[in-house]
Amino acid sequence: MGARSLEGKVALVTGGSRGIGRAVAERLGRDGAVVALTYAREAAAADEVVEVIRKDGGRAFALHAELGRRGDAAALWSAFDAGIAPYDPAGGVDIIVNNAGIAHIANLAELTEDGFDEVFAINVRAPFFIVREGLGRLRDGGRIINMSSGAAGLAMPEAIAYGATKGALDNFSLNLAKELGPRGITANSVAPGIIDTDANAGWLRGNADAAARAASISALGRIGRPEDVADIVSFLASDDARWITGKVIDATGGSAL
Ligand code: NAD
Repeated sequence: MGARSLEGKVALVTGGSRGIGRAVAERLGRDGAVVALTYAREAAAADEVVEVIRKDGGRAFALHAELGRRGDAAALWSAFDAGIAPYDPAGGVDIIVNNAGIAHIANLAELTEDGFDEVFAINVRAPFFIVREGLGRLRDGGRIINMSSGAAGLAMPEAIAYGATKGALDNFSLNLAKELGPRGITANSVAPGIIDTDANAGWLRGNADAAARAASISALGRIGRPEDVADIVSFLASDDARWITGKVIDATGGSAL
């Protein structure tokens, strides 16, 4: 993708304060989009991402959004409306990246109803209602990108509910593609493999054996970086990807080949 391919566009990235979401926010900012990035608890980290984007000549602002509860999407869009006004008085959005998510490590025997509800509320319900509540703001020709996981297509019994949330998200992308296609809006999932983020720090960083095993899963022989995923999101958000919709785009570096 050439630089500034998203000039004139507005992007919302959930969970943009760290990890994959941070890399996506920074990349879309470099591409020229005005980036609204949400954070739940890490206000200082979100401000730092905004600063990085601004130093790179981009435009961005952070907004607080604790996801996973009823009414969270409506609250997010109210904060968005206030934040976007100085940049774009019309208040529209072109790109929605539903990135925020949690892993839930539990097999069937360990699974609790609270754990199940939480992972579905954050990973599935929030994206559904962020799009639904945002429909009036989403411009024709827009993009919806849902951060799925390679886990959606694998049996990972130790994360049985997590995999199901990402499978649900992929079906959501499919249905959005059909419903919003007549408006030129595309909807796709991006499915990363193992990416070096804080979410994986506990078992991956400082554990040479685990890191070597994780690297060997990818055909390319290394663990993914947030930027590997962000570059794919950048492409999907661009005009060059206008004919791709309703798909799950692999971002695993050829895992399970
Ligand atoms: P991370 O834990 O580093 O970051 C997650 C982001 O989501 C954070 O910004 C966090 O604030 C936000 N978030 C979490 N719970 C939230 C809540 N209740 N309300 C609002 N925001 C909340 O994770 P990551 O590794 O960067 O993962 C980002 C996305 O990519 C997730 O959807 C994850 O499932 C997916 N993914 C990650 C990997 C991986 O290996 N890291 C692999 C496949 C898919």
